[in-house]
Amino acid sequence: MLAASASLLNISVVILDVGAQAPAKQVLAPTAPHRTHVDGSFSNPEKIKELAAKVDVLTVEIEHVNVDVLEEVQSTHNVEVHPAPSTIRIIQDKFHQKEHLQSHALPVAPFLPVEPTIQGITDAATILGLPLMLKSKTLAYDGRGNFVLRDLSNLQNALDVLSNRPLYAEKLVPFVKEIAVMVVRTTSGHTYSYPVVETVHKDNICHLVFAPFRSRDAELSQRAHKIAEAAVKSLSGAGIFGVEMFLLGDGQILVNEIAPRPHNSGHYTIEACETSQYENHLRAILSFPIGSTALKVPSAAMLNLLGASNDLSELIDFAKYALSVPGASVHLYGKAECRKGRKMGHITVTADSDAEISARLRPLLQRLPGTST
Ligand code: ADP
Ligand code: MG
Repeated sequence: MLAASASLLNISVVILDVGAQAPAKQVLAPTAPHRTHVDGSFSNPEKIKELAAKVDVLTVEIEHVNVDVLEEVQSTHNVEVHPAPSTIRIIQDKFHQKEHLQSHALPVAPFLPVEPTIQGITDAATILGLPLMLKSKTLAYDGRGNFVLRDLSNLQNALDVLSNRPLYAEKLVPFVKEIAVMVVRTTSGHTYSYPVVETVHKDNICHLVFAPFRSRDAELSQRAHKIAEAAVKSLSGAGIFGVEMFLLGDGQILVNEIAPRPHNSGHYTIEACETSQYENHLRAILSFPIGSTALKVPSAAMLNLLGASNDLSELIDFAKYALSVPGASVHLYGKAECRKGRKMGHITVTADSDAEISARLRPLLQRLPGTST
């Protein structure tokens, strides 16, 4: 999606990813002999250096990258890296990220470091109470790395699931809604917010996003924007950031986590906003004027297409059906392998009202592969 946005602006993009048929490489052919894509892992230092030698600005779409190498190429290859490697370093360790947010007076759930032992988790449960959320500090995504501990009889199971991971614990937040705000930050540190959206997770993975989030509390969106922008301002470097938050019953907002990159809760911006999260990411890291972040439709929703099995054909059939739904835009990512729970694409639906969004989503949700009826 970033590559598609770049091609409209005539920006040459060189992509580092495993395999010549990686999704982004399917979108953009190399633009010059010195700008051929790199086949390799984004955690391989040599491959990152090979990429850095070909570009003026380097950005990432995942935070689980080698930050030492990003710092090195920034100084030795004369490449601008966005967001700043220091920002990625803070974010890629969720415990460190929470400490950072707390030190900037941002509201977060109570949390503690935990020794990955029966005694360590028992001690955390004594302090935070049960249920609690055990989280891997590093390499977590799409709920992989989280474990909800409801009672101590499940301790061994928690340790088995999170085996050999550095852990911390958070109080389980009794949120009424999960909300998110995409924030774009310029090289000079200005921030601009997209609308507040509601995110609905299933098994810890984003399932649906509704834009905009409607609330009877007229101040809520202003408060959410203020917190999200303050969180992003506390970090350095340019680009788009996704700020995930919990809304509590009393109206309080807590920051869950920040993604230093285009984010699933911002996919809707492609069809629903004046400027997509991808285009504004490019504009920010290239110091171009930032585009309007306003909605250009009254209502929008995004439905993730997760693999229901190893069989991509059921998602393809579903996507074909989605083409018959008014206002629906289908995105299939071109990933080589379909696996259960893997994000394979998404569908954005736009409409003139929330009621029309519900009506358009209903037949999609009824037919979504993997949905038990
Ligand atoms: P990931 O890196 O997988 O996105 P998150 O920390 O955002 O990990 O957790 C995924 C989901 O798990 C959240 O969107 C939310 O639904 C749930 N979750 C995470 N932390 C908590 C918490 N402390 N209390 C309640 N639910 C939580
Ligand atoms: Mg998350």
